[in-house]
Amino acid sequence: MHPLVRGFLDLLYPPRCEACGRLGEAPICEECLAQIELVEAPVCRVCGEPFDPLAQAAPTCLRCRSGRRAFTRARAAAYYAGPLVQAIYRFKYYGQMVLGRPLGRLMVEALERGPAAELEVEKVDLVCPVPLHPSRLRERGFNQSALLAEEVAEARSLPVRPLLARVRPTLPQVDLPPSSRRANVHNAFAPRLQEEIAGKRVLLVDDLFTTGATLTECARALRRGEAAEVKVLTLARPLPQWRRPGADLRAAASNQ
Ligand SMILES: [Zn+2]
Ligand SMILES: [Zn+2]
Repeated sequence: MHPLVRGFLDLLYPPRCEACGRLGEAPICEECLAQIELVEAPVCRVCGEPFDPLAQAAPTCLRCRSGRRAFTRARAAAYYAGPLVQAIYRFKYYGQMVLGRPLGRLMVEALERGPAAELEVEKVDLVCPVPLHPSRLRERGFNQSALLAEEVAEARSLPVRPLLARVRPTLPQVDLPPSSRRANVHNAFAPRLQEEIAGKRVLLVDDLFTTGATLTECARALRRGEAAEVKVLTLARPLPQWRRPGADLRAAASNQ
């Protein structure tokens, strides 16, 4: 872009942090970045659920102990809290694609340390984003998971392949109670490019791991396409129950 045009645009739309609105530091300021809390050990060995370091002894959570997961491992880079909530919101719903790079970098950094390093991305063949339904893609103009997948893949010199298709539209999971989420996404995905999936170790990428319903369905579809293994990396996951405000009070009340 011509510097004059750039200067004019900066006057009209001054660069600002997408998380706190501070002028000058786009797309996300140093202070907000520093406030984003990365997920630390201990976590469930399978699904990455963060454990209370003072309470949990078993290596896996109750859910992972009671049934097989379609993915072998899932990890999130950071907690869905603080400035990251606003950043993800601006990224997804305000089309702030420029956030793809710094948010993707958080995932890349997480792969090098902490629980996400246990994904062993060096043993992965392909990166695959969770797809949007074509109608949603048209409306939004881009797939936020694909942008994150590209950042991760580029940093680790891996190919990104669109191995999944959304075969029916679903309601946004955030609008549904956890109990309805599984039914909402059940059989919503299908493998495509089967010849590229068969025998491959796939790293599935999405922005959020909440109940894991969407990622489980995607992993199931990849397994139907004969993927050898599916691992999951997300940008964020919610704070665990024991970290939420009032958790101490609830725990104290339930002990009475
Ligand atoms: Zn900021
Ligand atoms: Zn688990």
